[in-house]
Amino acid sequence: MRILVIGRGGREHAIVWSLSKSPKVSKLYCAPGNGGIAELAECVPITELQFEEISTFAKEQQIDLVMVAPDDPLAAGLVDHLEEKGIPAFGPRANAAIIEGSKVFMKQLLKKYNIPTAAYESFDTYEAALAYLHTQKAPIVIKADGLAAGKGVTVAQTMEEAEAALKDIMVGQVFGASGAKVVIEEFLTGQEMSLLAFVDGSTVRPMVPSQDHKPVFDGDKGPNTGGMGTYSPLPHIPQSLVQEAIDNIVQPTADAMVKEGRPFKGVLYAGLILTPDGVKTIEFNARFGDPETQVILPRLKTDLLDIFLAINNGTLADQPIEWSDEAAVCVIVASEGYPGNYPKGLPISGLNQVQDAIVFHAGTALKDGQVVTNGGRVLGITGLGKDIVEAREKAYANADRIHFDGKHYRTDIAMKALKPQV
Ligand code: ATP
Repeated sequence: MRILVIGRGGREHAIVWSLSKSPKVSKLYCAPGNGGIAELAECVPITELQFEEISTFAKEQQIDLVMVAPDDPLAAGLVDHLEEKGIPAFGPRANAAIIEGSKVFMKQLLKKYNIPTAAYESFDTYEAALAYLHTQKAPIVIKADGLAAGKGVTVAQTMEEAEAALKDIMVGQVFGASGAKVVIEEFLTGQEMSLLAFVDGSTVRPMVPSQDHKPVFDGDKGPNTGGMGTYSPLPHIPQSLVQEAIDNIVQPTADAMVKEGRPFKGVLYAGLILTPDGVKTIEFNARFGDPETQVILPRLKTDLLDIFLAINNGTLADQPIEWSDEAAVCVIVASEGYPGNYPKGLPISGLNQVQDAIVFHAGTALKDGQVVTNGGRVLGITGLGKDIVEAREKAYANADRIHFDGKHYRTDIAMKALKPQV
């Protein structure tokens, strides 16, 4: 089969890497791709929101399946566009991707169906939001409604911080239309867990759980990023909590979407927090996570294309899905200054020194045959091992073999698994 993957990050590299192992795949394209993806797929200079160019290319190249990986094109209706043109596409339609695209929609859905999440109120005027905020206490969480590249959430430790965030979103309009509404949410404490699932309407097949590290520095210090590293499994989190999340959150949410006439088909990502009062929902994403995918797909033993096809055919319930018992740890190697401003175009050396690890490219490009930095998160190094300790060692040994000016990574990825806190 001829497959086109849409996207350009480490997540897409992991998806392309996994699909490249399928004997059913005869040709892989990625639009636009990156420097690492180019080794496995033909990269096409079309970007994620160029719907007409994507569908024209898919028709011309007789693509059998377009896999839409990132949030923006899903929310903007790329799957709907492709289906209208008769091109098979993997991912939720816009009316289901809204579970990620609007936090107000997501919170209302969870409230309506009694699915555990933080208590909240939503507002579409600054005055009403501010008046409500003044009835609350810090810490408190302020969220822009729409997509904001992972930057639309402020966990405010003080009332001043909360007021400033609200003003930035609703008056300063720093996230544009994504900030026309806000959610003000109760602050929850506990360990976080990402639980992704393959979903075909009402059939939910959970993937292995994983945990991300959002803040840029060790010890969860500094500003939030897209994610600085992940690991899977979570040996310190009991399976009973994972099962609770499936039974009380993921399955009821898939069922709720069906009842709402918005059946979700694709990868449903539940961002969860393990509070003293049970597992609660922090967010839903309508796609694979980045960098969760870089530890999940290396543990998948089943042909990923078979799973995508089963979802599209409505046969997910009958699809065997097997996971390896190995542990995986992914360390993100980032540019100096990320998540703020950072340089681009710096030569990366040592990639040929990597041993016994998978290097997923996130922000890289090829310049005159040389791999150079081209983003904040540059590479994700995934180590696999019999346990987290071994997987960690492999990931870090290889992160040390790679160089570019100002490279930065956290040194404590997966330490929570080794020093249990729950
Ligand atoms: P992503 O980039 O993961 O899509 P997002 O912009 O959708 O992020 P959320 O996942 O909703 O934002 O929140 C980002 C982070 O803020 C969470 O991972 C969590 O650490 C923290 N957070 C969000 N909501 C709460 C809450 N109610 N209580 C405590 N922390 C929270």
